[in-house]
Amino acid sequence: MKKIAIIAHDGKKADMVAFLKDHIAHLSGIEIVATGTTGTHVAKAGLEVDAKLSGPHGGDAQIAAMVAEKEIKAVIFFRDPLGKHPHEPDVQMLLRLCDLYNVPLATNPATAHYLINGMFEEGEKV
Ligand code: PGA
Repeated sequence: MKKIAIIAHDGKKADMVAFLKDHIAHLSGIEIVATGTTGTHVAKAGLEVDAKLSGPHGGDAQIAAMVAEKEIKAVIFFRDPLGKHPHEPDVQMLLRLCDLYNVPLATNPATAHYLINGMFEEGEKV
């Protein structure tokens, strides 16, 4: 079964936790992969999660590789547009591979809301 990837930059972690709470019914029961620190928040919300390395230590790159291997159904990446990130090249790689492999990608909560709801309305098996 393909997984949904969830990632949030530090400046967006609070938004991500709020998003998890608002969408817990849809998110529970699906396979989730996340970067390290994001993953601890996902687990605290009571969801099963495969936590990879922390983003700055290669977690985004690990998830990008999973996109290339066609193991990822959709990516929710709450990026902080006001922050500076040492792993920006990894982030760009992940975004590029989502476009290359036509993997749905939401980079803010408003879009992620439509993505999750749309997947479930279509009875999409994730
Ligand atoms: P983190 O990584 O979940 O380990 O904080 C997210 C990121 O900054 O890419």
